[in-house]
Amino acid sequence: MMSGEVSFLKTTVSNPATSPSLTDALVTTVSTKASAVLALLKNATVEFKSGELVNMSFANSFGAEDMVLTDIILKNKLPIEIFSLDTGRLPTETYDLMAQTEAHYNTKLNVYFPQASTVEFYVKNHGINAFYESIALRKDCCHMRKVEPLQRALKGKAAWVTGMRTAQATTRSSLPVREFDEGNQLEKFNPLSDWTEQEVWAYIRLHQVPYSALHDQFYPSIGCAPCTRAVAMGEDVRAGRWWWEDPTSKECGLHVKK
Ligand code: SF4
Repeated sequence: MMSGEVSFLKTTVSNPATSPSLTDALVTTVSTKASAVLALLKNATVEFKSGELVNMSFANSFGAEDMVLTDIILKNKLPIEIFSLDTGRLPTETYDLMAQTEAHYNTKLNVYFPQASTVEFYVKNHGINAFYESIALRKDCCHMRKVEPLQRALKGKAAWVTGMRTAQATTRSSLPVREFDEGNQLEKFNPLSDWTEQEVWAYIRLHQVPYSALHDQFYPSIGCAPCTRAVAMGEDVRAGRWWWEDPTSKECGLHVKK
């Protein structure tokens, strides 16, 4: 039963992937890669400066990778606007992390919500959990709750930054650090493209970055609560997203190419 599978299982065993052994080699690699990310973003802020404004945004969805980028951007006071999307179906742990992020960095979040009338129409016509019924209805839900608000957030921007890594999904087999985003018609930076999961967690531990409690509960990739489940040890990091679908259809529309 679908609804039974989506409840967030609590376990007393903490996910070892979130606490890698901080060897000298790993610390050096992470430090080198973090410096490279900072240099890339600094150069991008110069390239995309328009008058007094830097026409560039970072989409923070509060996954581990996005928290690494949030830390690098805020601690270095980079003039990159950070925004988030609240789909209305996020897990409690994500809202907890949002509040923790505000407190930790002494900031307020810039959050985009779906259009209320579109959500009301969808729910009235298809049902509250209609995304389980077909890929089309799932994609419609992702479009109204994520894609449309993202398009609003990116309107007028010349470039945006994501926390995507190449290793995260079969649908992301090739992920350049920089590419032109055909779908949204602006430049896109994926500064963590070549980072491993271990390097992401080493950065988080070394810099005491806040992160979602769900990562310790074997949720490597976190989206909306009804569409995210825990994964088994060694399972693909995105196996817990839309697990009832074929892996090749598993994108929400935020990062697909035209
Ligand atoms: S992840 Fe699920 S609940 Fe969230 S927008 Fe997509 S289909 Fe809707």
